[in-house]
Amino acid sequence: MPVTPRPSIFAVEPYKGGESKIPGVNRIVKLSSNEGAFGPPPSAVAAITEAALGAHRYPDGGATALRTAIGQRFGLDPERIVCGNGSDELLAMLILAYGGEGTELIMSAYGFQMYELTGTWAGCRIIKVPEPNLVTEVDALLAAVGPRTRLMFLANPNNPTGSLMSQAELARLRRELPDNVLLVLDSAYAEYVTDPGYDAGARLVDSSPGNTVMTRTFSKIYGLGGMRLGWAYASPAVVDVLNRVRGPFNLNSAVMAAGIAALSEPGWIEKSVAHNTEWRARLSAGLEAAGIRVQPSQGNFVLADFGSPERAAAADAHLRSRGLIVRAMGGYGLPRCLRITVGTGEECEMVVDALSAFAQGNPATTEAHPVAEAAHG
Ligand SMILES: *Cc1c(COP(=O)(O)O)cnc(C)c1O
Repeated sequence: MPVTPRPSIFAVEPYKGGESKIPGVNRIVKLSSNEGAFGPPPSAVAAITEAALGAHRYPDGGATALRTAIGQRFGLDPERIVCGNGSDELLAMLILAYGGEGTELIMSAYGFQMYELTGTWAGCRIIKVPEPNLVTEVDALLAAVGPRTRLMFLANPNNPTGSLMSQAELARLRRELPDNVLLVLDSAYAEYVTDPGYDAGARLVDSSPGNTVMTRTFSKIYGLGGMRLGWAYASPAVVDVLNRVRGPFNLNSAVMAAGIAALSEPGWIEKSVAHNTEWRARLSAGLEAAGIRVQPSQGNFVLADFGSPERAAAADAHLRSRGLIVRAMGGYGLPRCLRITVGTGEECEMVVDALSAFAQGNPATTEAHPVAEAAHG
C-alpha cells in the first residue's frame, strides 16, 4: 500500500507565481508580482547583512522587537499583532484553525488565489461569489453565507482587479455577517490606497466582537517579498489561536531585523506612494489612449482588459518579445486580461510604448465585450 495524503490534497492546484525569465532575453523587466518599484530599502539590506553574524543563534520566537516596531508605526497594541512568514502563512494558519472539513470558505470570484488553494488543502468547500463588474458586492457575499460558513476572505484593495470596497460597505458586511464567521481583511496593498475614506482594517477589527482580522505584508510597498514577512492584527482570542498553531521560530533573525529597519527607512513610504500614484495614473492613461480598457486600481498594479483571451495572449507575447514580463490572468479566470505592476517610470513607459505599438498592429476586432460576460465566462 502506498502512503496516501488526505484526499483534499489532490484538489489543490499548486500556486504559479509571476515569471521572471524569458529564454534568450537578457534584460528582463519583471512586472508580474507587484513587488515595489524601488527594490529593498537600503537600511533593510544593511540589517540583513548584520544579522548574518548572529545566524548561529535561534531567533526571538516572540518577535517582540518587530511587533513593538510595527505597533509603534501603525498605532496598534503589539500584543494584538502576530507575525508570519509572509502573510500567506497567517492566511493558512487562520484557515486551518477556523476552517476544515465540513465548513465553507467564501471569497470573491476574482479574489486572491491563496485563499482557494489553502482552503482546499484544509478541506473547506470554497464558494466564489460572482463579481460581474470586477467589483466585490456586499449583498452577493452575504447571499452566499450558509450555516456551514466559517471564513470569509476579502482583499481590499483586491488583487488582481484593483477594486476597493468602501468603509461603509465593509462595516455593513461585518454587521450583517453572522458572528461565527471570521472575516479576514487582506490589506496587502493598503499603503498604496489614495481613496481618502480608506481604513486598512484596524478600526473594523476593534469594533467587531473578536471575529475580524486584518493581514498586512512587507512584500509590496516595503520591497521585502524575498524575505517573507507579514503580520496580522486581531482580537486577543484570535491572537491566542495563532500563537498556539504557529511554528515557534516562524520568523528568522534576518527578516525581523529587515522589517524593523524598513519601518524606519526615512521617506520610503512617502516616496513609494507618490511614485505609485503618479505612474499608476500615467500607465492607465497611456493604455486607455491606445484603446485598451483598464480597471480603476487602488493598488500598485493595473488590470488591462484586451477584450478576448486571444488578444491578451498576443499582447503578452508582444510584451515578452521586448523583455517585459507581466501576469497572465488565465489562472484567475480572466484570460482576456493582463495584470501589470507599476514599475519605475522608465518601465511604465516601456509598457505603454509596447502596448501602443501592439494595439496599432492588432486593433480590437469587435467592441470589447461587456465585463459582465467575462465574469460568468
Ligand atoms: C501579494 C499579496 C499578499 C502577500 O503575500 P506575502 O505572503 O505576504 O508575500 C497577500 N495578499 C494579496 C492579495 C497579495 O496580492
